[in-house]
Amino acid sequence: MAVSKVQPAEALTEAVASGVTLFGENRVQEYEAKRERLRALGLAGAQVHLIGHLQSNKSARAAQIFDGIDSVDSLRLAERLNEAAGKLGKRLPVLLEIKLSKESAKTGLDPSGPELSQLLERLPALDHLAAHGLMTVAPFDENPETARACFRRLRELRETLATEHPGLDFTELSMGMSGDFEIAIEEGSTLVRIGTALFGRRPRPIPGQP
Ligand SMILES: *Cc1c(COP(=O)(O)O)cnc(C)c1O
Repeated sequence: MAVSKVQPAEALTEAVASGVTLFGENRVQEYEAKRERLRALGLAGAQVHLIGHLQSNKSARAAQIFDGIDSVDSLRLAERLNEAAGKLGKRLPVLLEIKLSKESAKTGLDPSGPELSQLLERLPALDHLAAHGLMTVAPFDENPETARACFRRLRELRETLATEHPGLDFTELSMGMSGDFEIAIEEGSTLVRIGTALFGRRPRPIPGQP
């Protein structure tokens, strides 16, 4: 996945011309603005997923403009997205974001908390969501090896959950970014999210993010 947050629409069309078919954006409003320009430029065949935290009050719009939401981090959000996707007559691909880092800025479901269990129990009834697996953001650290433990925990969690919920699909493990994707792949990532290594340094920093 090419993470195109902060990049102009032209950068996305250039990436499509080079063969990229999947993009990650982290804000509803930012993509909303870019989308108009992309329409004019043409983004044939490419899909765009949301990978950033989504507030429930923006879930209806997000369900409409994104091809998937990879950052579902609460039961309430899942319910809202399901309702919105139902109204749109679509089945929305989603990943559940798991918080494995102690950094307070990171969002995601607590892997051992009650909400994740409740969400997994509820998922089969959410007809308009198609859950395909888990996503995580590793802690930011100069040494990418510290991310390894985090990636391994996500893979182990996937194995446990897949055994406990044989009816659910846990195919995808979205983990790994520019600084640690090799390690993520070694630890079983099926989907790396690459921004800087593809597009270069982002034009402006995003508060609270590396
Ligand atoms: C920005 C971002 C990425 C990409 O980060 P890079 O270090 O630029 O590759 C991946 N995942 C999420 C959730 C992001 O917000």
